Amino acid sequence: MVESTDFFMQRLLIGLDVGGTKTAALLADVNGKALAETAVPTYTTTPEALLSTITRAVRAVLAEVRATPRQIECIGMGVPGLVDPATGIVQLAVNLNLQRYPLGPAVSARFKTPTFLENDVRTAAVGAFAYVQQMEPVQSLAYVSIGTGVAAGVILNGRLHRGHNGMAGEIGHMIVEPGGERCNCGQHGCLETIVSGPASVRQLIAAAPEMQTTVRNAGDVYEAAVQGNAAAQAIVQRVGQHLSRAIQWLVMMYDVEKIVIGGGVTRSGDPFMAPIRHELAQLRQHSPLATALLGEEKVHLMPPDYNPGLWGAVRLAVNGNR
Ligand SMILES: [Zn+2]
Repeated sequence: MVESTDFFMQRLLIGLDVGGTKTAALLADVNGKALAETAVPTYTTTPEALLSTITRAVRAVLAEVRATPRQIECIGMGVPGLVDPATGIVQLAVNLNLQRYPLGPAVSARFKTPTFLENDVRTAAVGAFAYVQQMEPVQSLAYVSIGTGVAAGVILNGRLHRGHNGMAGEIGHMIVEPGGERCNCGQHGCLETIVSGPASVRQLIAAAPEMQTTVRNAGDVYEAAVQGNAAAQAIVQRVGQHLSRAIQWLVMMYDVEKIVIGGGVTRSGDPFMAPIRHELAQLRQHSPLATALLGEEKVHLMPPDYNPGLWGAVRLAVNGNR
C-alpha cells in the first residue's frame, strides 16, 4: 500500500508533439523514465478544438498509469510553426490553424501547471541531443528532419540555437534549384520541393505516371528503387545528392560534432542512407577538407524506436526556457 500512496504523490512530466494530423503524448517521471505514451487525432477547426485534442492526449497518458492532472509538474510541447517560447504564443502554425494564439498559457490554465513550447523540429533537436548524449558527451549537433516538411534544429554549446526569429536551421526553404518547382512558402526550387516525402512521390509519378495508383508515400518510392525501378532509383539518388549537400552546409556553417537524421522518410533505413553515404564518400575522396569535417562517424540515422520530438518535449518540461 505504501507503494501506491507513493505513486499518487509522484510528480510527473508530460511531453507533447502537436502535429497537424495527430498529437502524441509521453508521460515520464522526473528522472526521465517513460511511463506511458499515446497518440490521438488532432482537431484544428478552432483553437478550442485543438485544446480539446491536447487535453484528450494528456488525460489518456495519465489514465494509463491512473495518475491525476494534479501530479503534473510541467508540460513541454513541440508545435509545427513560428512560436515565441518566452510567452508561449504561437505566432503562426498553418497546419494547426493558429495565428497569434497563446497556446502555452491556455494549456497552463487548463492543467494548472507550467507549460513550455518550442517549434517542433527545434524540440526534436533537443530530443536528438539527449539521445546522442547517452552514448557520447557531444556539445553540438544538427538534427535534420525529413518528412512532409524538411527542417533542421541546431544545438551549440549544449543549448538549442534558436536564432533571431527562432528559425535557425530552416534549411528546407533554402533555394537549391533556382526557378524550380513552387514551394508552399512561395519561393521556387526550395530543398523541400526535392527531398520531402511528398516531393519524392510527385517526382516518381511525373516520371512514371503508370505508378500513380501504387506509390503513396516515400517508403513506396524507396521500395520501388530497391526492386530495381530505374525512375525511382534516379529520384532516390537525386534526393541523396541534395541531402548530402545540406549536411555539408550544416557542418560548414555550424561546425557541429554530429548530424542526426530523422523523420518519416528516413524509416526506409539503408535504402535512404546509402545514397547519402555514397555522396559524402565521394566528397571525401577528392577533398582533404571534406575528409577532415565530414568523416564517416559524422552522420547518424535516428533509430525508429526513439521519438526525438516527444523526448525533446519532455526535456523542455525539465528545463523550461533555459
Ligand atoms: Zn520553400
